[in-house]
Amino acid sequence: MVRLRYELPDDLGPASLEERRRFYSRFMDYDAAERWMAPFPGERVFALILGRHSGIYPHRYRSLKNVPLLVEDARAVRDLRPYLRKYLPEGVYYDRNAYASVEDARRRHVDYAHAWRDRGFRGQELAFDLDPENLDCPVHGDIEDKMRRHQGLSFCDWEFEETRRQAAELHDALAREWSHLSVVYSGRGFHVHVLDPEAYRLTKGERTRMARRYGQRFALDEWVTSGEMRLIRLPHSLHGMVSRIVVPVPRGDLEAFSYNDLRAAPVLAGR
Ligand SMILES: [Zn+2]
Repeated sequence: MVRLRYELPDDLGPASLEERRRFYSRFMDYDAAERWMAPFPGERVFALILGRHSGIYPHRYRSLKNVPLLVEDARAVRDLRPYLRKYLPEGVYYDRNAYASVEDARRRHVDYAHAWRDRGFRGQELAFDLDPENLDCPVHGDIEDKMRRHQGLSFCDWEFEETRRQAAELHDALAREWSHLSVVYSGRGFHVHVLDPEAYRLTKGERTRMARRYGQRFALDEWVTSGEMRLIRLPHSLHGMVSRIVVPVPRGDLEAFSYNDLRAAPVLAGR
């Protein structure tokens, strides 16, 4: 029998505002996030999305629920804490652009989307985003089928395991060219971050060609690799659509990793 009902496996589902509050106040490992970002050059802009996908957001911020709220004055991850406790976002991101000084860029009204030639621009982190919805699932079909059924954010166990297999294969392919890689469980799929200093200096053309080349083999969101989509989830933050923690997964642990791994399971009320 084929189960066409297709939402999310197990207890994956949106976190309530109270669950988000508990997580950001008491359980988020800000120090681990800080350590993960420590080798990055330059300064970052962070971004919060309050309720775009979950429809859950503090009522007083309803006019802001769909747009990324930029946090420009957080120099360290722990500086985000008051913002997270106030806005209780469904997702926490950073912009992969690196700046000599965000304060200087802000004061000069630098357009972050077109900062490539700016004097304060220190490059962009190279990243790959593997999404389960980009896979052709034997049960749920391809991305067009899923979008038609408004299930672009759902995934099944087959899709999760195939995305995980691809993350391992992509990591190993990238390891032939780059030395500092980090695979991160993103809540639904996986991200592969390339942290080599040379990767920050790639041009947009080089990134676009790389996105096309790897996009032929992997279920990639090519816009992330090409640099058009700059926001990426902050490791150790909460993915509010699935109630899982975004966590780095050592390459050796990847084959056995599941979304029910204890490292990704937040302590949430009532779960
Ligand atoms: Zn499926």
